[in-house]
Amino acid sequence: MIRGNRTHLAAASAVALLAWGPFSGSAHAEKYYIGEPPAPSFHFYPPADTMPHIEVHALRPGIYAARVNYAWTGWVEQSDGILLIDTGNNERSARALADTIRARSGPRPIRYVVNTHAHLDHVAGDRFFASLGATIVAQEHAVAGVERIFATELPPSDSGDSTQAFHPRWMRVARRANLGKAPRLVQVLWLGRSAHTAGDLIVYLPRQRILFTGDLVSNNSIPWMTDPGMDIDGWRASVDSLYTKRFEADSLVPGHGWIGTKKDAVAFTRLYLTSVQEKAEKEASWGSSLAEIRDWGDLGHFQGFEFYDEVHFLNLRRLYNKAKGLKTPGRPRPGAFYQR
Ligand SMILES: [Zn+2]
Repeated sequence: MIRGNRTHLAAASAVALLAWGPFSGSAHAEKYYIGEPPAPSFHFYPPADTMPHIEVHALRPGIYAARVNYAWTGWVEQSDGILLIDTGNNERSARALADTIRARSGPRPIRYVVNTHAHLDHVAGDRFFASLGATIVAQEHAVAGVERIFATELPPSDSGDSTQAFHPRWMRVARRANLGKAPRLVQVLWLGRSAHTAGDLIVYLPRQRILFTGDLVSNNSIPWMTDPGMDIDGWRASVDSLYTKRFEADSLVPGHGWIGTKKDAVAFTRLYLTSVQEKAEKEASWGSSLAEIRDWGDLGHFQGFEFYDEVHFLNLRRLYNKAKGLKTPGRPRPGAFYQR
C-alpha cells in the first residue's frame, strides 16, 4: 500500500483507522485540495475527511513522523510539551493526529505548531491545535496564507470541529528560531530564497540528524510548482544548501512521498526540478504548442510517481510560459483532485 525505504528506521507502526485510506485503493472517491488555504468563506472549505489515515514512524526516542492522509507531519517531545510539525489536510484528521500523539507521548501539552509553509494540505489542522493553546510558528512570508485558516467561518456541524474564526498566538520567523532545549533542540530555518513557496521553513534536529523539509523536498512524489510565490531557481538553490555540511542528517522527512536518506530525497526533487524545466524550455524553443501539452509533455521516468497525473502538467505549463517570457500568476488553489 505504501512504499518506502524504512528498514533503517528504529520502529515503524501503522494506525489505519479504517482499511481504505487515500493510498489503499477504493471505489470511494476522496476529494483533496492543494494550494493555499481557501478564501474566508466556508463555501470554499474542503469537506472533512471522515476516515483519516495516519501512518506513524518512530524515528528516534521522542521523535516521530506521521503521514496524515497524503502529507507528512511529525512531532518532537520536548521538556515543556510537544512541538508539532504541520497539521494535515483537515481538522478531523488533526483530531485523530492528536489522539495518535497522546497514545505515544502521553498527555503533554501541544506547545508549538511549526508550519513548513501555508499550503492547505499541511495547515488545515492548525485551528484545532491552536484551540488547544499551541503557538503557531510560520515564516513571515507564509503568515498571511496561514491566517486564512483562522479567519474562516465554518458551517455548524455535529463533528465537534471549531467553527468560529479566532486569533492564535503567533511566532513569525524571519530567518531562524531555536525551539526547546538540548537534547531535543529544534532549529527552524528559512533558507533565504522563495522556493516551493515564498515562505518555506525547514525543521532540523542537529543532535538526532533529522530533517523535516515540508514540500521543499518531495521524495518519490511529484513536487507541486503551482504556488504564486514559487521560484524554481531559489528552490534549486535551497535544496542544494541541504546537501552541505550545515545539515548533517541520516533521515529526511519530506512533505510528500517516502521518508529517506537526505541524499536520495534531495536528489529526487532536484532531478525533477531540472528535468521539468529542461523539458519546458526545449519544447518552448521548438515551438511546441501548449494545446498539445498532453502529447509532448510526458516526462519518461517520472510517470507513475505519486501526483504525476494531477500535478506534472500544471508544473510544465507554468515553466513553458516562463520560458516564453510570460509571467504567470500561479494558482493559489489549483483545485481538487480525486483519488480512487
Ligand atoms: Zn506545498
